Amino acid sequence: MSGLSEKFRLPVACPSCGSHRMGVSQVKNPDDKAFCTSCSRFVCLYHEAGTVLQQGSGSEALIVQAANRGDC
Ligand SMILES: [Zn+2]
Repeated sequence: MSGLSEKFRLPVACPSCGSHRMGVSQVKNPDDKAFCTSCSRFVCLYHEAGTVLQQGSGSEALIVQAANRGDC
């Protein structure tokens, strides 16, 4: 997996370990899954992460909902 993903920081913490460091494939398709780089938990889709990065803390619920879907 190393070298095939790009890391970024998400305002919302990983629900499992609290890390803010996420990884996504370098292709960065909107439907690519973003994973916590610490515990490899699915957190959200890349386009959902992009929404939060653009809109800030007001959209954190989007990530929480995505993480709770658990569609990994
Ligand atoms: Zn984690």
